[in-house]
Amino acid sequence: MRVLVAEGYIDERLRAVPPELVEAVSTKGDWSKYLELHGGPLADAARRREDEVLAALGLLEEARRRGKAVVATYPPRGVGYSSGRGGLLNAVAYLAKELEAAVVSLDAHFPWGTWELHLRLGFPFLAIYSGADGPHPGRLARRSDRVVAVPLPPGASDRSVEAALDLAGRLRRPLVLEVGLDLYRLEPLGHFFATTASYHAAGRLIAEGGYIVLDCTSAASIPALRALLAGADGAPNPLPERPIEESPAVVREVDRAVEKARERMAIIDISKKRHA
Ligand SMILES: [Zn+2]
Repeated sequence: MRVLVAEGYIDERLRAVPPELVEAVSTKGDWSKYLELHGGPLADAARRREDEVLAALGLLEEARRRGKAVVATYPPRGVGYSSGRGGLLNAVAYLAKELEAAVVSLDAHFPWGTWELHLRLGFPFLAIYSGADGPHPGRLARRSDRVVAVPLPPGASDRSVEAALDLAGRLRRPLVLEVGLDLYRLEPLGHFFATTASYHAAGRLIAEGGYIVLDCTSAASIPALRALLAGADGAPNPLPERPIEESPAVVREVDRAVEKARERMAIIDISKKRHA
């Protein structure tokens, strides 16, 4: 499996990805689909970059046709929170809405744009992110009864990531994953130590079908990307690395967070569809 991108609109952030790992598709999407998700000033801004936004929508429709895909879509930035990372189209929310899917985010950054759309659209949402930089789970729980959050402490590695990803087993299918490669151990700015095993585990979540929207790629994280793609293919991890031991404090903190998340999942109706 390769990373699906829109022909002609490959963002700067994907330059580091070797060309053999990328597949470009050229399909135009439909404005009405855009307007079902985004409106107001965001739609006005998107209209001015129409070709680019329709290419991104077409890319997501092509992903849907395949039933399983890893996509990267980075329309222009700078518009606001209701999209992903300030872009003009939130691919995760788009797919979740169209497919009535559940969303899993695995990214050092908390995905505020996806969160805002979660509040509006109500898709089940498991968020795994850097606790030092992201919101307290209690703050999220006060706003939504369909979110479960696992903040990761600095120093977290595969044990923590895989324990958090395990919670996705309770979510309805299909899954849409937002995956940032910035928890990978070789990320220069990161304080996390996930090896390729974590990203292979994330990829495996869609081995039977599902979608990954890629984010936070870098030259340093290409091994993690290769593992992610192999996992999505249902193939073995091509680049296994030596496990990194976590400190007892990290183990304790993550165990507690995962346990709380599990208890919360047992109470709230995260796996059910929302009634209109
Ligand atoms: Zn990130």
